[in-house]
Amino acid sequence: MDLDGKVRLLADSARFDLCGSCFGQPSRKSNPQGGWIYPVSLPDGRVVKVLKILLSNDCVHDCFYCANRAGSPFRRTSLKAEELVALFLRLWQKGLVKGLFLSSAVSRDPTWTMNEMLKTVEMLRKKFHFRGYIHLKILPEATRDYIEEAVRLATRVSVNLEAPSPHYLSAIAPQKSFSRIMGLFSLLSDLRRKGLCAPAGITTQFVVGGSTEKDREILGTAFLLYRKFCLARVYYSAFQPVWGTPFSGRPAVSSWREVRLYQVDYLLRRYQFSLDEIYFSEDGNLPLDQDPKTLWALRHPEFFPVEVNKASLGDLLKVPGIGPLSARRIVEARKKGKIADISSLKKMGIRVKKALPFLLIDGKKPCDSGRKQLFLFC
Ligand code: SF4
Repeated sequence: MDLDGKVRLLADSARFDLCGSCFGQPSRKSNPQGGWIYPVSLPDGRVVKVLKILLSNDCVHDCFYCANRAGSPFRRTSLKAEELVALFLRLWQKGLVKGLFLSSAVSRDPTWTMNEMLKTVEMLRKKFHFRGYIHLKILPEATRDYIEEAVRLATRVSVNLEAPSPHYLSAIAPQKSFSRIMGLFSLLSDLRRKGLCAPAGITTQFVVGGSTEKDREILGTAFLLYRKFCLARVYYSAFQPVWGTPFSGRPAVSSWREVRLYQVDYLLRRYQFSLDEIYFSEDGNLPLDQDPKTLWALRHPEFFPVEVNKASLGDLLKVPGIGPLSARRIVEARKKGKIADISSLKKMGIRVKKALPFLLIDGKKPCDSGRKQLFLFC
């Protein structure tokens, strides 16, 4: 296979890994070399274009959901570190990408694969002085030396946990060890405490609906990871059957399940909600027909209406249609005077259609005519 063919295949094989992508399914674009370029959100809010690629799609493991598993009928290939570096530099020098997302199947053995991935990153950093964004996947079997080197060189690292408990993980990826991966998170957070860490932190990913796990269990484990190991982000990837895998006959999981998990993830990380406040259906999953914040509001009439001119930041964050940025804008605006009408709320970015049923403005219940009179009270 020529180099362009290898790049096309390995970039396509990387599409199942969502770690580091923008919310939900990333909008990827192809590049002239046949690879894929993805937008990635950085912790400082910037979005940069990265080349997302695998070093190899030739895996010795047999995860039941994965296209790259041993024995699947897809074409196999690997790149050498030198080839990957040359490809990346070409794209970077043309201004097509600003960063690299490098992952890999476990090819030959974990030591060989990790070694080649680190060689790639080391060449970029030390020989070609590339200072931009590099997201590097760490294989669960990596030794401590490799892990230390990875966090020294990469901007962000990730280890995919895939499932919320040992039981669920063994049902979808029998060769992966839940305790080993948790041990890796523990080591990464120890290194972080000692000042040795990738600046954009650690991320992970769950395959949602790969087994019979419930949303409550996924979110419970996700928030243990946030709390205990200070993960920067958890990504949720709705299971999609892949032809040629043992799970090819299973139904795809609704992307709405993924969306609801992300919404709760945001509520817990950025809206001061706790997991106890999240409403789950009796089966332990999030209802798909209503967003979790509106559901909480509808189930807590005693909390509303909230007075925009007096409510704390935490209370404003509980109102549907008000996000962290617009809540802060309300608090700032109040320092200059009363908020008197709906048009002021609109200017602050509040989704008034959602928020108005839960608000008072200066003691009165507002209603939006939706046309010219934006400051009616009813
Ligand atoms: S370790 Fe499992 S998930 Fe990763 S590439 Fe191999 S088979 Fe796929």
